[in-house]
Parts: sequence; structure tokens; C-alpha cells
Amino acid sequence: MPPNPDHFVLLPAFAATEGRPATLGVLGGGQLGFMFVQAAQRMGYRTAVLDPDANSPAGLVSHHHFQAGYDDAQALAAMSRVCDAVTTEFENVPAHTLETLAKTTPVSPQAHAVAVAQDRVVEKAHFQASAASSGVGPVPYAVLTTDSDLARVPDALFPAILKTARMGYDGKGQLGVASAEALASAWQALQQVPCVLEKRMPLIAECSVLVARSRQGDCVNLPVQLNTHVEGILARTEVFDGNLAPDLTARAVDAAKKIARELGYVGVLCVEFFVVTGDDGKPGLVVNEIAPRPHNSGHYSIEACDVSQFSLQVRTLAGLPLVQPRLLAPAVMLNLLGDIWFNSGELRTPEWDQVLALPGVHLHLYGKLEARKGRKMGHITITATRIEDARGVAQEVQSILGLWH
Ligand code: ADP
Ligand code: MG
Repeated sequence: MPPNPDHFVLLPAFAATEGRPATLGVLGGGQLGFMFVQAAQRMGYRTAVLDPDANSPAGLVSHHHFQAGYDDAQALAAMSRVCDAVTTEFENVPAHTLETLAKTTPVSPQAHAVAVAQDRVVEKAHFQASAASSGVGPVPYAVLTTDSDLARVPDALFPAILKTARMGYDGKGQLGVASAEALASAWQALQQVPCVLEKRMPLIAECSVLVARSRQGDCVNLPVQLNTHVEGILARTEVFDGNLAPDLTARAVDAAKKIARELGYVGVLCVEFFVVTGDDGKPGLVVNEIAPRPHNSGHYSIEACDVSQFSLQVRTLAGLPLVQPRLLAPAVMLNLLGDIWFNSGELRTPEWDQVLALPGVHLHLYGKLEARKGRKMGHITITATRIEDARGVAQEVQSILGLWH
């Protein structure tokens, strides 16, 4: 049986003096697992990673790497033997994997919360149900599961975006649908799997809020992130006092906390919002999606906040106190996709030396062995005393690396 979860506290401890070393596990060894492992190790924990890839970024730097699939019974048994608590870096881990581990080991976030984030149909229904308390609802949408659903789609949803209910990320599994006539063929192109059809909203801006919630229900938040996406992939995040109007900031934070509370959520949760023109003609919020884990838009917190999203993941998992993070400096985060390793089709090494000569630049490379177009290889956070200065440096970084030219 796992320890009583309500009173679970796992302090860092080492074998030599205190018996078994305190070990935190993570399902998935990508960049989010990598930065979680780094935060955990910095605080004195040992770490274990489950990932089938021999070269996964987190697996390569962890005390234990179980190289196996997420439903491999032997590997799960090994994880539960070695780990005192387990978290996940991605939402598509099978629900029964979390349930199996939870029989012996504290697991956060819990399987039921991850299941909500895995399926856009369930997720949107949850947003609709929590809108009464959160004050923020989903974008107008319809669910497509059978042929007969096609005819029931209201015209007002077009132009629309068709999204597969499951397994979408970084804009994958999505198609623009201009009109009702184009819907059937778009659905066919997505193999007629269950989908949601969303009204394409004219976006004033996009923002996200990361909250961390403890087993006792304490909840803290990072400052609101202002995000820019290019072709469905996050390109840039800006965080500074006043990046969003104060009333929208307060509403986004409040809604994110309420969505976490309604889920009974434990761990780090990211809530993505769209800023759209409301019925009253003023900017308002709708909720886009949640991620049951740290998020790309929170990477800036490693340098720009006194508690990062990954430290919060460690704290929630280990049952340590949560403290409200403070923003130490305005920040711009730029994503580094595999595209910048290519010059007219030839592989090249980006000019990191030039980038690192600029003030306030924090380079993160995740150690992925192969650069591919659209693949997240790293990011750069730029901190400065004033946001204008951070933007100026970001502009220089972009021109050195050829980002979005
Ligand atoms: P993913 O799971 O790939 O992050 P999202 O649903 O967040 O998928 O979509 C990725 C991006 O595409 C969003 O951040 C936004 O820029 C754009 N987008 C998605 N849905 C809509 C919509 N209904 N209206 C306008 N833009 C949208
Ligand atoms: Mg998204």
C-alpha cells in the first residue's frame, strides 16, 4: 500500500546516512522530464525515468533509466520498487499505468485528472461544467463521433478547426475547415476518429497560467504567461508586470485555480486561454486546453522566478510546502526548433557563441541526438531589468539564429 497520501512527505535523504535514498520517478524522458530530473537532483533527490528511448534526455542524466514501454509490467514493478513517488511529463501515458503505480506508490497528478487532459471531448465537457464556478468557458465547439453528428454541426461554428480528441500536440492532428461543405472530407482526412470541431476564434492574444496544487488543496501560481504560437507551436513567451490587463490577469489566475480545484488536482497544471472579444465588445477569456504537467510556456520560470515550475512539480510530488513564486525579472522565452540546425538542407551548428555573448541569455539544450524540423530541441530565456531590453536582446538572438525569418 502507498503511504497515506494526505500525510505523505518525502524529504531528500541519502543512503549512506539515512537508509534508502529518496527517489522521485517520472514517466517520460523528454525535455520536461529532463528539467524535472534536474530540479529534483538539485534538491537532493535521486531520480528514475521510464522511457523506451535509449537516448531520452532525462534517461541519460538520471540515476535509473528503465528503458521500456509505458505499459511494460516488469518496468512498472521496477519503478515502484525504486521510486518513493512518481509523476509524468506527458498526458498520453496510459491511464492504467498511473493506476497500477498508484497501488504501491504516491502518484501525481492522479490518473483521473490525466484522463481528462488526454481527451478533448472530456476536457471540454469539464470546462463547460466548471464554467459556472471558474467564470470562463470553452470556445464554441461540437463533438464528432458518428456520421450523424456531421449534419448537426451549427453553421455558426465555421470557419472552424477540427481536432482529434486524442493524441494531439504542437498543432498535430488538426485541420482548418472553412465551411460546412468541407467538413466531411476533413474528418475523413483524420480517419474519422472522434474529434472536436471548434469555432476558429479571432484571437487578441493567448495566455497561460501554471498552478501547483498540493494534496491538502493549497494552490500557488506562476505569473501569467503571454504566448505567441507559429503554425500551432509555441514560439515565444513574454512575462512581465502588465503583460495582460490586470482584470484579465486576475480572472485567468482565478479560473486556473478553480479548474484545478474542480479536478481535485495534485501537481503542476497548465491552463491555456485565448483572449477574445466578448459579447460586451471588451476583451474576455475562453479556456483552450489544460496540460497535466509543467508546460513549455513556463520554462522562463527557471531563471525569471524564485521557484520554477519544475521545483513546484518536485514540491507537490514530495509533499513539500508550496510557496507563491515571485517574478525576479521580466523575461522573454524563445523556443528553439530543429529547423535552425538546417541551412538550405545542410546540417549546421547554430552560432551559440554569438548568442551567449549577449546579456541575460540563458541557453537550454535538451541533449536530443537528432535535429528534425518542428522538433523542440531547446529554448532560450532572456532576462533583463526592463522588458524592452529583453525584447531587444531577443531580436538579436532571432537574427543570429534565423528564427522565424
Ligand atoms: P495543441 O494541443 O497542439 O497545443 P491547441 O488546441 O492548443 O493544440 O492549438 C494550438 C494553437 O492553434 C493554439 O495555441 C492557437 O494558436 C491555435 N488555435 C487552436 N484552436 C484555435 C481556435 N479555436 N481558434 C483560433 N486559434 C486556435
Ligand atoms: Mg496548446
